[in-house]
Amino acid sequence: MTIQLKKRPTSFLLQANDLAGIKDSADSAGWHEFSVAGKIIGAGYLGVQNKGVGWLIPNAQQKPDATFFTNLFLEAIGKRKFLVRDAQTTAFRLFNGAGDGFGGLTIDYYGGYAVFSWYNETIANWKKEIIRGFKEAFASSFREELVGIVAKNRYQGAASESEILDGTIPEDVIVLENGLKYHVHLQDGWMTGIFLDQREVRKSLKEGLAKDCRVLNTFSYTGAFSVAAKVGGAKSTTSVDLAKRSLPLTKEQFEVNELDDSKEKMYAMGVFHFFDYAAKKKLNYDCIILDPPSFARNKKQTFSVAKNYNELIEASLKVMKKGLLICSTNASNISYGNFRKMIETTLKDQKQAYAIQEVFRLPADFPAPKEMPEENYLKVVVVSIL
Ligand code: SAH
Repeated sequence: MTIQLKKRPTSFLLQANDLAGIKDSADSAGWHEFSVAGKIIGAGYLGVQNKGVGWLIPNAQQKPDATFFTNLFLEAIGKRKFLVRDAQTTAFRLFNGAGDGFGGLTIDYYGGYAVFSWYNETIANWKKEIIRGFKEAFASSFREELVGIVAKNRYQGAASESEILDGTIPEDVIVLENGLKYHVHLQDGWMTGIFLDQREVRKSLKEGLAKDCRVLNTFSYTGAFSVAAKVGGAKSTTSVDLAKRSLPLTKEQFEVNELDDSKEKMYAMGVFHFFDYAAKKKLNYDCIILDPPSFARNKKQTFSVAKNYNELIEASLKVMKKGLLICSTNASNISYGNFRKMIETTLKDQKQAYAIQEVFRLPADFPAPKEMPEENYLKVVVVSIL
């Protein structure tokens, strides 16, 4: 069916008010042509997801069948040859939704296993064609075998967060990234144990960004930054995360790299509590990593990057004299410019001398279309505190 749009949308991700021809986008999921003022402008599909109701697929000339997906995935894999061939790295993003020409789906590779994320139900309903298309593209591009495919159902109303789509998925999988090992748990909810978009930051830590530093890794999750920093010569690491299970998961990341973790510190604690505790104990750090979730709510407080990031920087300055502040956020509602302004304003308000040392954005396997600047979400600003 052809769906009328009010005007040519500025983003590939369609909004309810882009649609003129139908009342409720949810009742007509499937593949469509889109037209503006009677003129076909392209094809795509409807599917309700976070922040949108469907996707315009640029250059789509046919209904998405297995051959369509094979070609789409071959093109995406072709752009990642440098990673496919890198024997030191077995985990990376193979397909990045709109950035690779088809919004609503991402595919991550974890040394023999593929993780598909469905962002709406329509695309999940094409799983047969997508799996067939992917297996075909994979077989002609990789030397190793594809052992299993797992899906993360990232849309409302899904029966489960995670499900096996093909083959087998073991409890634990060990992947390599720039020569370091990371333990991942591919069947455990949406998250896998490592955020692949931070690869370049971990590489820099591994290569000595925090050499000789006492590192404080806040919002540490499985401690991936701590391990990379330790291998890169950090004097000590302290990992702090609210979730209790971060403790065994962090230990596991050290152990899989054959590092002695007995002297590394790990706290299951709220970050602000930890800062109070550290200030009281007069603890000091030379490198502090801040990587909070965009939004978090616990019993008493809410934290949002937009409103509260400055408090993290202010708290950090109480436990650091000189050193590195690694300020990271994946909040898509804050531009790089505004994030940097917030950091600099906070430091100036604190009368703190500083220099911006380095900036990391998304790595090449996470391309974002220029029409969707919000997809270029990662901002990591390394600040020297002087
Ligand atoms: N830096 C990590 C990813 C962080 S994910 C990495 O690169 O691997 C965000 C983490 O913040 C989650 O593990 C969550 O448990 C933790 N978290 C959320 N609110 C918190 C709080 N108030 N204090 C400490 N940790 C918190």
